[in-house]
This record gives sequence, structure tokens and C-alpha cells, in this order.
Amino acid sequence: LEKKIAILEGRIPEKYPEVKYLGYKERKRILVTGGAGFVGSHLVDVLMTQGHEVIVVDNFFTGRKRNVEHWFGHRNFEMIHHDIVNPLYVEADEIYHLASPASPPHYMQNPVKTIKTNTLGTINMLGLARRVGAKILIASTSEVYGDPMVHPQPESYWGHVNPIGPRACYDEGKRVAETLAYSYAKQENVSVRVARIFNTYGPRMHVSDGRVVSNFVMQALQNLTITVYGNGKQTRSFCYVSDLVDGLLSLMESSYTLPVNIGNPVEHTIEEFAMIIKNLVPGCRSTVATGAAVEDDPQRRRPDIAVAEARLNWAPKVSLKDGLQRTIDYFREELSRTTFYNNQTY
Ligand code: NAD
Ligand code: UDP
Ligand code: UDP
Repeated sequence: LEKKIAILEGRIPEKYPEVKYLGYKERKRILVTGGAGFVGSHLVDVLMTQGHEVIVVDNFFTGRKRNVEHWFGHRNFEMIHHDIVNPLYVEADEIYHLASPASPPHYMQNPVKTIKTNTLGTINMLGLARRVGAKILIASTSEVYGDPMVHPQPESYWGHVNPIGPRACYDEGKRVAETLAYSYAKQENVSVRVARIFNTYGPRMHVSDGRVVSNFVMQALQNLTITVYGNGKQTRSFCYVSDLVDGLLSLMESSYTLPVNIGNPVEHTIEEFAMIIKNLVPGCRSTVATGAAVEDDPQRRRPDIAVAEARLNWAPKVSLKDGLQRTIDYFREELSRTTFYNNQTY
């Protein structure tokens, strides 16, 4: 019924996107935790079009059914409403473990839950991988480097994290998730991959996600003040979501088992970034204002991607301008939808 309504409302096409036919020997059963979220749903699209069976597990904390609704009812697709803090018994050949809030305001909203998801949830997924002999990719983060003293950040850098600060629930949670992955690899022979994901953006970010790209684009589209936190001299490097998904797929395929940075090394200050977005929105009348700094905000971030280039033969392809243009187009659509639904985002 949900699919029918979506078709009637013109949100999704009547037919499924085309999927490749795979014989039972090539077709894998792939579990994607957090598959209804921003990154997960793009990954699901690629895996589905490749012809695999995909099981999405999500508790919809920050994800939405709408991100994957175009697959509802497809024979290769299954969706389980489940919180991975609780054990899960399914069969799978591969697991992409992405379930975790990723936006600072979201993960700080319930820090205990964030830690539970990244520790207990990761133990459950590693336990599942162990039981069924599945390969598992853990979505780690550049936040494991904290507010880095080494720039750009290579995988060999151990990081500079405040263990009791407001970001610790996420940063330390992900650091434990990495430790768990290598403990299960060593002790239980589980085949693990660890992606250290750097700031990623693109369509399907939630309008109220709270991260910088969605905030700035939404503000620019509505001629609202663009809110730079702190003096705007802090830097980030932004990767378009399709590039990230390519990187995750290459990492899963490869035999390289140590952590790999996946991100785009083009670095900008947040102040520059505000101006780039403002200039990409035609007729934008927003002003850019600086405000109070965020506690423990990392001051510089740029991935060293030499390992990904050498071991995965991967590098990002989408330029910031092209990626932002597609993202702005998406948020423009979202805004008209929001108005249509009486200011309710869903
Ligand atoms: P997102 O918030 O859009 O997606 C996360 C998904 O996980 C959501 O669908 C959410 O409902 C689900 N989830 C959260 N807790 C859960 C639980 N306990 N049980 C089941 N499902 C749960 O975020 P995203 O940007 O798509 O991030 C995906 C993964 O990539 C996360 O692990 C994040 O830490 C990691 N990551 C993302 C970025 C980025 O810039 N997007 C950067 C570094 C790391
Ligand atoms: N687990 C799970 N699904 C499975 C297998 C295990 O959710 O298919 C959970 C299980 O509840 C356990 C955790 O994963 O708490 C770790 O599993 P492991 O086999 O390492 O440990 P044990 O079962 O011995 O505690
Ligand atoms: N930021 C900002 N204004 C916003 C949201 C974020 O200036 O409306 C800043 C934030 O302080 C940080 C950077 O942009 O320096 C990236 O923040 P985000 O929350 O997107 O991700 P982070 O890399 O901090 O996890």
C-alpha cells in the first residue's frame, strides 16, 4: 500500500529500477544495517541493481522508509524494523554495518544510546558474522582521529580524542567498534573490513540532519542567515555520496583488512564553504554569520587517501561543484515537498 500511495503521489516510478539478473552462484545475500539512512540507502540501490538480495535492518532513528521505498515489494529486497542493540538472527554472505547516528546533534541527543549502538550493536553484528561466516564491513569515521595533531590524516595516526567530551559517545564508540572488529578477526577468524569515512554529502540527507551541508543548503535556499559555528576557519573535506559508496564496495571486494580512509581530499574552511554554497544558489540573499564555537570541534580534517588509491585503486571522481549542485537540486525538491505536506518532514 505504501508503494501504491508513493506511486500515486508521483514520488516513485511505477516500475522498479532495472536490476541485473544473477544466477544463484553469483547472487549474494547482503545485510545492510542502517540501510534506510543517507549512505546506506545509496549503497542498497547499487547492491540491488547489481542483482543481489538485500536485507535492510534499521530502527528509523535517523533513517526513513522513504529512502528505500522504491524497492518495497521487490523479490530481492527485505526490510526489518529492528534495533541492532538487540541480537539479530538472519543469514547473510556479507554485512555492511552502517547503523549509527552520524550527525553531531543526533548522536549527542542520546549519548548512551549512541555508545550502545556502536558497542553492543557492533558486537551483535560481529557475532552474527561469526555464526554465519559472513564478511563484515564496519563503517568507522574520521572522528577516530579526533581534533587531529597530524594533517592530513593517514590511517597510521592514532588520533587525539577527548574521552569525556560531548563527541566522545560517537568517537570512542567508533574506536571501540574498530577494536571489536580486529578482536573478532584475531580470535574468531571473522573477515573484517574497516572504512574510516570522512564527511560525506548528497541527496537523501534529511532536511533537519543538522550537519553542515544540509544546514547551509537549506539556509541558502530560503535566504536565511548561514550559520557558521565559531570563526569559520576550521576545515573539512567533502566527499560526494556515490564516490563513498564506490569506495565501500571496493573495500568489501578487496583482500585488504586494515582500516582505510575513504573521503575526498579537497579541503575548505567552513567560511569558504558557506560562500561556495551561497554562490551556487541563484539569487541567494543569505548573509553569512559567525556564532559561538562548538565544544571540541575538530579544527582541521583532510584524508590522506594513499592507501585507498594503492590498495583499492579508488579515488573520488565527483567535483565539489557538481556534487553540491545535485544536492541543492535535491533540497529544493524537499522544500517544495515540505510545503506541500504542511511543513511536516517525514
Ligand atoms: P544516517 O543517520 O543517515 O544513517 C544511519 C542509519 O542507522 C539510520 O537509518 C538510522 O535509523 C540507523 N540506526 C541508528 N541507530 C540504529 C540502531 N540502534 N539500530 C538500527 N538502526 C540504527 O547517517 P549516514 O550519514 O548514512 O551514516 C551511515 C554510517 O556511516 C554511520 O555508521 C556513520 O557513523 C558513518 N559515517 C558517515 C559519515 C558521513 O559523513 N555521512 C562520516 C563518517 C562516518
Ligand atoms: N548474535 C546475534 N546474532 C547471531 C549470533 C550472535 O545477534 O546470529 C549476538 C549474540 O546475542 C551475542 C553477540 O552476538 O551476544 C556476540 O556473539 P558471540 O558468538 O561472539 O558471543 P556469545 O554468543 O558467546 O556471547
Ligand atoms: N558547522 C557550521 N554550521 C552548521 C553546522 C556545522 O559551521 O550549521 C560546522 C561545524 O562546527 C564543523 C563543520 O561545520 O566545524 C562540520 O560539521 P558537521 O556537523 O557537518 O560534521 P563534523 O565534521 O563536525 O562531524
